[in-house]
Amino acid sequence: MNPVEIIRKKRSGEKLLREEMEFLVNGYVRGTIPDYQMSAFLMAVYFRGMDFEETSRLTEIMLSSGKVVDLSSIPGIKVDKHSTGGVGDKISLILAPLVAACGVPVPMISGRGLGHTGGTLDKLESIPGFRTDLSLDEYRKQMSEIGVVMIGQTDDLVPADRRMYSLRDVTATVESIPLIAASIMSKKLAEGADALVFDVKTGQGAFMEKYDEAVELAKTLVTIGNKFGKHTLSLITDMSQPLGCAVGNWVEVVEAIECLHGRGPSDLVELTCTLAGAMLMLGGRSSTIEHGIDESKNALESGRAYKKFLDLVSRQGGDLKYIENPEQYPYPKNSVDILSSGDGYVESINALEIGLACIELGAGRKKIRDKIDPNAGVVFKKKIGDPIQRGERVATIYADRREGISSAKSRIEGAIRYTASKPLARPLIVSKIEINSANPENVIVHPWGG
Ligand code: URA
Repeated sequence: MNPVEIIRKKRSGEKLLREEMEFLVNGYVRGTIPDYQMSAFLMAVYFRGMDFEETSRLTEIMLSSGKVVDLSSIPGIKVDKHSTGGVGDKISLILAPLVAACGVPVPMISGRGLGHTGGTLDKLESIPGFRTDLSLDEYRKQMSEIGVVMIGQTDDLVPADRRMYSLRDVTATVESIPLIAASIMSKKLAEGADALVFDVKTGQGAFMEKYDEAVELAKTLVTIGNKFGKHTLSLITDMSQPLGCAVGNWVEVVEAIECLHGRGPSDLVELTCTLAGAMLMLGGRSSTIEHGIDESKNALESGRAYKKFLDLVSRQGGDLKYIENPEQYPYPKNSVDILSSGDGYVESINALEIGLACIELGAGRKKIRDKIDPNAGVVFKKKIGDPIQRGERVATIYADRREGISSAKSRIEGAIRYTASKPLARPLIVSKIEINSANPENVIVHPWGG
């Protein structure tokens, strides 16, 4: 087969055969297809898209680039959640131990920062010693012993996604429904979970900025999940401002620890507990999402979730000293305050711009081999709707390197708008998407709370 012909076929908007996709994806994993041809293919998919059948096949091909973990010997319904990528989204760090503390096992394979969004693996690796590269035996053992594990793709697990994900990150080919769906689903199908909850983001800081695109992505994820025999549902949630107050890596770990102590910002707590409620319902632990939300709030307040987090961190080699005393973490070499240029209320905080500013600071990558600065990030004192006076501190920027600070500062200043009257609050959770149990060919969109 000729890779140029396959790229040209997709570039012309034609549907690809399974063998053609296998040739490209498997060749890329083996090293016979170079980065430049895979990049051209990804760009062709970005512009031309794929239909459901192609997306589902691409998922299968990526999935079979590695092993599939069998967790059937571990009792209980194993449930995982995956987000389509956001700014300040540290939910997995709180959610995985929280749901496991409530008795539902959580096997989790996560990704690194992608585009302007942060990645769970980069956040976890800001904890000194934390290993995200466990072997499959270690993964299974930890799952059976403590009911929760968080790792990244390896040469064993979905190597195709590991390689294509880093290439998409640096070739502006992230925002594509078939590529996002195949990337997420190949990881989720490989990890051994029985049921899945997706957090599909919409708004300025999301890959699917428009609500209708987010719904289409959620429908694709839910349909593929159910097709592969996993009970799957999705929430569509707002990403027009960063989630919580911290954006970066270590700063997000610190906020996750606060949340595990029952002191998290309200948006972070609300979304974490709702996703936990959905997972507890799919895991057979609670009869409804609402009951699951009550149970998860209880696990946060009682300290059960924090204890499970300590267990998780120490099992994966992380130094508990920094979790128990975050102030002992090496302090960032530079910090700069962002002061308000307006009076009244914070009207908007453009999450996309904040994510890009954090890349300037070193919290994310511009090139595949860029090294992450774990201290780089921004912590907001104010969120949309908060009252503010001119000259008051809105946020503080942190970084070890000086380079990038001044451009990040102007970017963040430009990303925040002020208004004289209190802006209307936007709903954080917009809708829930699931398969129609009476007709599995159909997906239903329920307005949240409706
Ligand atoms: N998360 C993933 O794992 N993959 C994507 O493509 C986007 C978000």
